[in-house]
Amino acid sequence: MHKLGIIGYGGMGGWHADHALKSDVVELAGIYDIKPERCELAEQKGIHAYDSMEALLSDESIDLVTVAIPNDEHKDVVIKCLLAGKNVICEKPVALSSAEFAEMVDAAHKSGKLFTVHQNRRWDVDFLAMKQLYNSGEIGEVFNVESRIHGSRGIPSDWRGEKKYGGGMLLDWGVHLIDQILQIYAGKKVKKLYCRFEHTTNFEVDDGFKLDLTFDGGEQAYVEVGTYNFIALPRFYMQAKKGTAMITDWREKCKVVKCKAWNESDVLPVQTAAGLTKTMAPRDDVTTDTYEIERPHSDVHDFYRNFCAAIEGKEEQLIKHDEVMRVMKVMEASFKSVEQDAVLACDI
Ligand code: NAD
Repeated sequence: MHKLGIIGYGGMGGWHADHALKSDVVELAGIYDIKPERCELAEQKGIHAYDSMEALLSDESIDLVTVAIPNDEHKDVVIKCLLAGKNVICEKPVALSSAEFAEMVDAAHKSGKLFTVHQNRRWDVDFLAMKQLYNSGEIGEVFNVESRIHGSRGIPSDWRGEKKYGGGMLLDWGVHLIDQILQIYAGKKVKKLYCRFEHTTNFEVDDGFKLDLTFDGGEQAYVEVGTYNFIALPRFYMQAKKGTAMITDWREKCKVVKCKAWNESDVLPVQTAAGLTKTMAPRDDVTTDTYEIERPHSDVHDFYRNFCAAIEGKEEQLIKHDEVMRVMKVMEASFKSVEQDAVLACDI
C-alpha cells in the first residue's frame, strides 16, 4: 500500500480522498488545505489534516502526493513535492504553459521521482468507444472527428472565471477533449489549427471555445466546449470512408451507420418547399446497416492502480509526459490563434 497525501481539499481534493482509496492501492495519510475550514471539514470526516504543506511533505510515510489546487499554483507546489522526494499526481491542466510543464518534468528527473497528470477522462466510456471504433477500422478510414461538451449554466463562478488562476474553458475542459482527440488520432501530428473563444457570460476568460485541428494526413478534428447551449449537439461524431458514428450524450451508446452498398438503384427523393432532392435524401436499410456498440469496460480507479504499479517499477505510467506536453502545446497554439484571429501552421 502506498501512503497518499492530498494538497488542496476542495471539490477535486475531496474526490481524490474518496476515490484513491477505492483503487485499493493507497491509504490516505491526510490532507492539507490553505483554508482552515476545509481542514476542519476533513477532520470532521475522520481525515487527518496537516498544519502546513511542509508538515505533510516531511511525513516520511507519505510516498505519493496528489495536488488538487487552482491551476496557477500547480507548478510551484508540484516542484516542491518532487524535491521533497514524493511521487506526484497533479490535477489537470498540469500548468499554464508548456514552459512551466517542462520545469516540472525537469524537477521530476532531478528528484528521480515519478510525476503524472490526472487525465481521468481517458477512462470516459464515450471516448473509449470512439477510440475502439477508430482502431478497429470497422467503418474504414476516419477523416473527421468532432468532440463537443455543451452545458447551459455558464462558467463556474469560482477561480475558473479569472485569468490569473488559469481559468477559462479551454484550460478546464479543453485539456480533456484535446487529450482525447490526440489519443484517437494516435501517431498523427497536428499541422494546422484555428481557435475562437466565446464570451457570453464571462469577458475575462473564455466561457466556451471552438477549435479546428488538421492532422498530417489531412484528417480533421473539431473540439467545442460551450456553457450556454440549451440544446446540446452530439458528444461525439465521427466520419469515415465506410460509415458514420455518433454518441449523442455520454449516457448513450455509440450509434453506427455503416454503408454496405455505395450505389443505390432507386433513391426515394425528399420533397422540400423548394423542390425535390435525391442527393440529400436519407439512406435506408437497403444500403446501410444501423447498430449500436456496447460500452467498453472502464474503471477510473485504474489511474491510481497504474501509477502505483509504475512507482513499483511494474508498469509504465499511462499518462506520459510527451502526451501531456502535446496537449499543452495545442492549447498554447490555440490561445495564440485566438489572439491573432488566424489559422496557425504547427507541428505538434
Ligand atoms: P476548488 O476551488 O474546489 O478547490 C481547490 C482547493 O485548493 C481549495 O480548497 C483551496 O483552499 C485549496 N488551495 C488553494 N491553494 C492551495 C495551496 N497552495 N495549498 C493548499 N491548498 C490550496 O477547486 P477544484 O475544483 O477542486 O479544482 C482543483 C484542481 O482540480 C484544478 O486544477 C482543477 O482544474 C482540477 N479539477 C479536475 C477535475 C478532473 O476531472 N480531473 C475536475 C475538477 C477539477
